[in-house]
Amino acid sequence: MHGTEFEPTLHVKATMNTAAEHPKRIAVIGGGISGVATAHRLTELAPQCEVTLFEEADRIGGLLNTVRQDGFLLETGADNFITNIPWGIELCRRIEFEDQLVQTRAEHRTAFVVRRGRLLKIPQGFIVMSPTRMWPIISTPILSPLGKLRMACEYFVRQRQDESDESLARFVTRRFGKETYERLVQPLLGGIYTGDPEQLSTLATMPRFREMEHQHGSLSRAMLRHAKKQRKSESSGGSRYSLFVAPRDGISSLLQAIANRLPPGTIETHSPVQRIAQQETKGWTVSVGGNKPRTVAFDAVILATQAKAAAKLLADVSPQIADPLDAIHHSGCAIVSLAFRRSQIAHPMDGFGFVVPIIENRKILSGSFSSIKYPGRAPDDQVLIRVFIGGACQPELLELSDDALREIAVSELAELMGITGEPTLTRIARLPETMPQYYVGHQQRIATIESCVGDIKGLFLTGNAFHGVGIPLCVHSGEKAAEQASNYLTSNR
Ligand SMILES: Cc1cc2nc3c(=O)[nH]c(=O)nc-3n(C[C@H](O)[C@H](O)[C@H](O)COP(=O)(O)OP(=O)(O)OC[C@H]3O[C@@H](n4cnc5c(N)ncnc54)[C@H](O)[C@@H]3O)c2cc1C
Repeated sequence: MHGTEFEPTLHVKATMNTAAEHPKRIAVIGGGISGVATAHRLTELAPQCEVTLFEEADRIGGLLNTVRQDGFLLETGADNFITNIPWGIELCRRIEFEDQLVQTRAEHRTAFVVRRGRLLKIPQGFIVMSPTRMWPIISTPILSPLGKLRMACEYFVRQRQDESDESLARFVTRRFGKETYERLVQPLLGGIYTGDPEQLSTLATMPRFREMEHQHGSLSRAMLRHAKKQRKSESSGGSRYSLFVAPRDGISSLLQAIANRLPPGTIETHSPVQRIAQQETKGWTVSVGGNKPRTVAFDAVILATQAKAAAKLLADVSPQIADPLDAIHHSGCAIVSLAFRRSQIAHPMDGFGFVVPIIENRKILSGSFSSIKYPGRAPDDQVLIRVFIGGACQPELLELSDDALREIAVSELAELMGITGEPTLTRIARLPETMPQYYVGHQQRIATIESCVGDIKGLFLTGNAFHGVGIPLCVHSGEKAAEQASNYLTSNR
């Protein structure tokens, strides 16, 4: 390491002792769910190590943040997580947080799609891009008779032999036809990734559907077989959770519960990391700004920031990693939370929300009926609706003022749901460049990055830019990074 690295004015927390003299030290940089899950797994796997988590903001959570206002519980980012990907639920179990989770209300487990300005129920059993029940598809007014026929033909569409990646739009159109894509699948997928399915990679976002095509020749065939098994398992006990769950007191309470499990002093907020440097002998130094600037020595460093922040920190360490990380495109959106008295709304709100196809030419991506989905989100006589605006297909809308965003959200809801009068509460969260877009070729890009990271001793990467954006996959990514770091340190390389 270079002598100038330890500026005399900086406080040096650790000296360069040998391994025998001090416990191994690991820095986790970034305190979103990926970083917090990493730190937690490290304390499970290697309690003898000293873990420090640096977070530049004044709170942990990153994109996850719960706010209480006027009797409402508002989420300014994610509001729940899926349970059929196990890592979120498993973490909750390990930290004894399961009893804090609430299920989606049993009576309204359905959603709507906008068709010609009306909210129509998404056919029951239609799972993102694949039907498990025939009658709801046959009877839905969302598709034309020809569109339904084309969808039914999926059963017989020949499987693609080429193993290469393709866009989600191409995949769905190839298998189910243009109408199913445009009217049903595009808005559902566009909603998940606030992305453009014309560019999103099938292999990186929905690998299960390509596997189904390969294993069963058709998605309909695969889903019907799966549904049969599912019905059997439901009749013999059923699944324990609804498909989505949320912490009763909001998503931030999950972050706090994980943080409470960490040794005191592990988390340092107000601590932006400005530089990381590999030492010539062994280990790393981490230079932290903020109120208490200092440079600290560590045996290993785990980057859990957004991809672009990681790219910045790695620019001098390895351009081979930094450049492709920096090139990952991110989309952004605004969430306009609006509350109304129930009596202001004509729509029965017998679902959890709605998605809006691009072909409808509207200015919103979706609406989520937060207080219908989960209890405790709004006072009894009011409802809370979150309206999503922007995304990869309408990025210019994020440039609008708060007043203009509010106006769009209120007028679109008025038209679609028959809402009259002004909202009783408005809160706008802007989330620019927050959703990594897994474009076609993403897996290859990540494989290259990970192979370069593997060549650098004591460096590990986690976060939502790699193998999934949802909370359970971020937890998994963080826990995997923790396992790799713990193996590295115990193998004493
Ligand atoms: C609008 C929206 C809705 C979503 N809804 C859901 C949902 O309902 N369910 C779901 O499962 N997922 C959802 N997601 C996805 C999920 O919320 C995110 O993918 C996940 O929270 C990302 O976590 P992370 O820790 O990887 O990144 P982040 O939350 O971005 O955390 C990175 C952290 O690193 C910190 N940092 C950056 N640079 C530095 C530095 N130099 N020094 C120190 N700290 C630094 C940042 O301040 C930040 O706290 C949603 C995402 C969006 C955008």
